[in-house]
Amino acid sequence: MRTILRGRGVSPGVACAPLARLAAPLVTSAEDPVGADPAAERVRVREAFAAVAADLEARAGRVQGETAEILTTTAAMALDPSLLAAAEDLMGAGTPTGHAVTLAIEGFCEQLDVLGGYLAERVTDLRDVGHRTVAHLAGVPMPGVPAPGYPVVLAARDLAPADTASLGADVVALVTEEGGPTSHTAILARSLGLPAVVGCPDIASVAEGTTVLVDGTTGVVEPDPPDERRAVPAAMVPAADTPGATADGHRVALLSNIGTLVDAEQAAATASEGVGLFRTEFLFLDRRTRPDVAEQTRTYAAVLRAFGDRRVVVRTLDAGSDKPLPFLPLGHEENPALGMRGLRTAAVHPGVLDDQLTALAAAAEETGRAVDVMAPMVATAQEAERFAARARGHGLTRVGVMIEVPAAALRARELLEVVDFVSIGTNDLGQYTMAADRTAGALGDLLDPWQPALLDLVAMVGEAGRTTDKPVGVCGEAAADPLLAAVLVGLGVTSLSTAPASRPAAHAQLSALTAQECRVAADRARSARSADAARATVAECVHDAGEARVAGAEPTGAVGPARSARADRQGRASAEAAS
Ligand code: PEP
Ligand code: MG
Repeated sequence: MRTILRGRGVSPGVACAPLARLAAPLVTSAEDPVGADPAAERVRVREAFAAVAADLEARAGRVQGETAEILTTTAAMALDPSLLAAAEDLMGAGTPTGHAVTLAIEGFCEQLDVLGGYLAERVTDLRDVGHRTVAHLAGVPMPGVPAPGYPVVLAARDLAPADTASLGADVVALVTEEGGPTSHTAILARSLGLPAVVGCPDIASVAEGTTVLVDGTTGVVEPDPPDERRAVPAAMVPAADTPGATADGHRVALLSNIGTLVDAEQAAATASEGVGLFRTEFLFLDRRTRPDVAEQTRTYAAVLRAFGDRRVVVRTLDAGSDKPLPFLPLGHEENPALGMRGLRTAAVHPGVLDDQLTALAAAAEETGRAVDVMAPMVATAQEAERFAARARGHGLTRVGVMIEVPAAALRARELLEVVDFVSIGTNDLGQYTMAADRTAGALGDLLDPWQPALLDLVAMVGEAGRTTDKPVGVCGEAAADPLLAAVLVGLGVTSLSTAPASRPAAHAQLSALTAQECRVAADRARSARSADAARATVAECVHDAGEARVAGAEPTGAVGPARSARADRQGRASAEAAS
């Protein structure tokens, strides 16, 4: 019998490969059995440290730059004789072998912590050496992202941004037990073009090595699919290289979300009309030291060059919460999503923001290209005004802010009076509107971007954009849903920014509807009483508009009458059935 598992498809595409898991570190204990032969145990420990060092060295050889340096330094830690000596001493006192390794490592971690600064930042690496050595001793897979040398579907409870950022070429799809449509796993998967399904708890019971078929569009995961389903179909939507517009020529710029220079080069090679969101924090997720102005200038200049005359919107670092940056310590917070993140971190580390603005201005100057800059997590017009003054003080001329906090949406007109544009981050705006953690898979329904409450806030921002005659973009994942893209345009959004892979579908959907039809769809969605009802009513009216067009009806405004005719038919049918 065929088993079908269901989750939430968050990154389109289909892949089929054996399942591999993100292994959790083994927990050791003083109660573990003690090896019978102490001399043999000492040899095992020495060999385990050596094997871990050799593996890390081999990984260092496959990557470049700072990542390679970190891996080489970590390999050297595994060979530190004092570490081995400490483990041996503990074993001599009767501690089980694996636990002796854990305790020896923790002892060194404490010392590094006390020394502070750069050395304290090595604690995570040293713990990783411990986890790897313990895994080697127990003969279980190494913790972290597997790199078996052949294609695999990676399954995990959830992925940290750093895990997702370290995905190798072996991983062809992702399935997580938790995580919502706007989690960073979803965003990174889309930017890497990897099919991904999140919120699929049943993946936990599929054995490693089982061949699984993952459909990132429908959210279906099928273990042991029949042979004829193992061949993976190609993408279905052809790429369109004309600028985004509705059927009656109302322009909607279709831009790209990027996080790295590689993303930029790939997006620039498509028909993308520019960058609507450059998540600069993705450049530095694994950095221990603050990137200097010269390095940042080089990267930003390369992105501006790649896009030539096309618009590029760079977001200043959105650090904190689920995107901690090692070089930007923010202290412990009980509720980091409601704490120091985004623009708020500039209060603690003002130099980091100034360096970034300096680098952006220098990159614009060096390349002769225009750059738009925007700040994340802005709540008030005062914050927007201060940011705009600061950016303009660095010579940047087009300054915007993200609308991610309901307060900012409610007062969008005041914000737009002090900046040049806004961009709605529907991922966070959804999270804060619904009071639902965007990383929590179980809350996926509340985080559905079709939630009418979220659409009401987008409508307020669209209205503010019309009143002030300033652009309103959407760069959250809502823009990647083609049907919802039409609704957003109907709500007054002037540009949509998505992973490049989502552009063709949005382009096709917009070019099938007039601006008036988008407005009618938006009204329908906002009148619905739930996310599902909003999606269903818009799907229905868009379908009806298509039918009406095929039948030769006038396109403009066709959604309303066509839908009403169907509603009338249905109303009559149920009245007849009832009588
Ligand atoms: C958003 O919140 O919608 C957004 C685009 O920002 P991020 O997903 O990076 O938080
Ligand atoms: Mg955000």
